Amino acid sequence: MSDFGLLILVTVAIAVGWWLGRRSEQSSQEEQWPTTTGLPSQYYRGLNFLLDGSQDNAIDAFTRALEVNTETFDTHIALGNVLRRRGEVERAIRIHQNLLARPSLPSQQLHLAHLELARDYISAGLLDRAERLLLDLVDESAAHRRLAQRHLLEIYEAQNDWGQARKVAEALLPRRSLLKPTKPPADEVGQPIPLLLAHYCCQQAELALARHDWTQARETLREALKYDRQCVRASLMQGELEYRVGEHAKAVAVLMAIPEQDPDFVPQAVPLLRQALDALGRRTELRHWLQQCLDNNPSTALTLALAEECRDTEGDASAKTFLRLALEKKPSLRGLTLLMQLHNASEAGEDERLQIQTLQRLVEARSSYRCQHCGFHGQHLHWCCPGCKHWGTIRDLGNTGEVVRA
Ligand SMILES: [Zn+2]
Repeated sequence: MSDFGLLILVTVAIAVGWWLGRRSEQSSQEEQWPTTTGLPSQYYRGLNFLLDGSQDNAIDAFTRALEVNTETFDTHIALGNVLRRRGEVERAIRIHQNLLARPSLPSQQLHLAHLELARDYISAGLLDRAERLLLDLVDESAAHRRLAQRHLLEIYEAQNDWGQARKVAEALLPRRSLLKPTKPPADEVGQPIPLLLAHYCCQQAELALARHDWTQARETLREALKYDRQCVRASLMQGELEYRVGEHAKAVAVLMAIPEQDPDFVPQAVPLLRQALDALGRRTELRHWLQQCLDNNPSTALTLALAEECRDTEGDASAKTFLRLALEKKPSLRGLTLLMQLHNASEAGEDERLQIQTLQRLVEARSSYRCQHCGFHGQHLHWCCPGCKHWGTIRDLGNTGEVVRA
């Protein structure tokens, strides 16, 4: 059990003790003993279990010690949540179901128990049950509606149901009415809804691209950019679409606009841009464009892209000169490896070649992409982080690489 969980458990134990003490005090004043005279012994049993390190028994004892009413409601919710965080989802479900079986509780408390039970079901992978609860909550509770809709997004994302995800996310967008404009609450947790909608559109566009439905793909990507003009993923996909249908000039125009959206993603545009410019007989434009990008936003990835462009169009000597100057300004292991490779191609002996190959393998084995939200490291660019499920938070650490479908 984590320290945090233990802290909550101890706090709950204290809360139970306080509540029992208060109840006992009230009872003696009224000269009435509570109907459940066994409560104090259950509490002390629970405390003993806790002190003995038997946390499972302690939780059971505390739960039995507390009858459900408006005063003890928060304690039951806290216990259920501790259990869910510990991975004991079945027991959390029992506690939250027990709360829902008390219709005498105020509707606000019943709605909260409803929400926590839906979270239990999500943790247990029972997404259909969670979906039903959350849809009811959207209808019944204005206070929990947005949170329930956020959880519905989690479910539809997990099910790859991008149509439903878009429908729910659109309902979360601020209303544009001049009479009664709305904004999301300042404390709302989660990524901005327009950003999510743009990625859901991209997911749909990927499916359309896979079945060669260019019209649908083009329309869906246009919608993605309507939601989020900064969605670099949509622009990369537009470039791919236009290239595949032979609209090379359109592909070049879209890809060359990417630095205005997010300069970190320029290296991802380079391979396709190179092909489109080759097809148009305009390859010389690439070096000039890359140099401009590098001047505006220096990075190792761009330095490598420009060095490779020098090598392809002007030869090894030009690339080496460029790299030496670049490494003097900003040293990097990847840049050094490329420089050694260029040297290796023309002048190195057998031993040097082996050393360079080893260095290259070591550099390639290092993670190239990192999530800015959770720190997840990986070899590929995922649009949806496998670690934290955030969209568009993984960045290139300095290597050009393959884009993996989300
Ligand atoms: Zn992450």
